[in-house]
Amino acid sequence: MTKILAIANQKGGVGKTTTAVNLAASLAATGKRVVLADCDPQGNATSGSGINKFELQDSLAEVLLGQCATNTALLKLEKVGYGLIPANDRLTAAEMAIMGRDQREFRLRQALSPLQAHCDFILLDCPPSLSILAVNTLAAATAVIIPIQCEYYALEGLSSLTNTIDRIRQTINPDLYIAGILRTMYDPRNNLTRDVATKLQEHFKELVYDSIIPRNITLAEAPSHGLPALQYDKKARGTQAYLMLAGEVLRRGSRKPKQNNG
Ligand code: ATP
Ligand code: MG
Repeated sequence: MTKILAIANQKGGVGKTTTAVNLAASLAATGKRVVLADCDPQGNATSGSGINKFELQDSLAEVLLGQCATNTALLKLEKVGYGLIPANDRLTAAEMAIMGRDQREFRLRQALSPLQAHCDFILLDCPPSLSILAVNTLAAATAVIIPIQCEYYALEGLSSLTNTIDRIRQTINPDLYIAGILRTMYDPRNNLTRDVATKLQEHFKELVYDSIIPRNITLAEAPSHGLPALQYDKKARGTQAYLMLAGEVLRRGSRKPKQNNG
């Protein structure tokens, strides 16, 4: 069965897009059939996958508005090994337009259903908000991966995200669960990030992935070349960390970790 993973945290700049792009490339490298849907009007996952977001013909916006078929917007990117549903700022207008329409929370779920027979994983790069677009991603998802930057304010805002996930579970997506919490931008030389990383594990226990994403220049540079780190520098520590994460995601399979999010 297709697993739909929303990479979500309404806090900005915590590594959602970096995780979405690099996990997509890493899962694809293991032979899995992967689609990455860019669900953020910033279009960072689109440009990070090597697609010019200013020259999109069809994008997630048109798909959500029912103006084009999902398969028409889907770009098969051979270089990176996954399919991409691209996005750009047209998604902001689309979001406003679907606000007033029927089934507004389920537009993305409906849009993704034709892909289900053809892929193992659909990754959703979520926007830094709890908007109707974000609600659409949580309504469509099987599970959520929450990237958290190992810094002082890391836990701030996390309760609004877990409350939102609880609310979505109680209303429109009863099976939704947290697949895992991912520690990102880890710097072992910094006492504070070490402390935060340890505290996250103490608090959330098995929900926290063992894989830790280091602060790594390759991960920051690769998007400017329009490539996932795997295609840019295979040996880099950041690349290897995302390959480890992909292994962990595959090993966890559909096992639902205890939701220590209280
Ligand atoms: P937004 O909320 O704006 O969508 P985001 O959560 O998607 O942001 P990213 O865009 O992935 O976050 O990362 C924010 C910035 O940090 C980017 O410039 C990215 O290249 C850089 N970055 C992310 N992860 C790492 C890392 N592990 N090491 C070094 N730089 C990183
Ligand atoms: Mg992003």
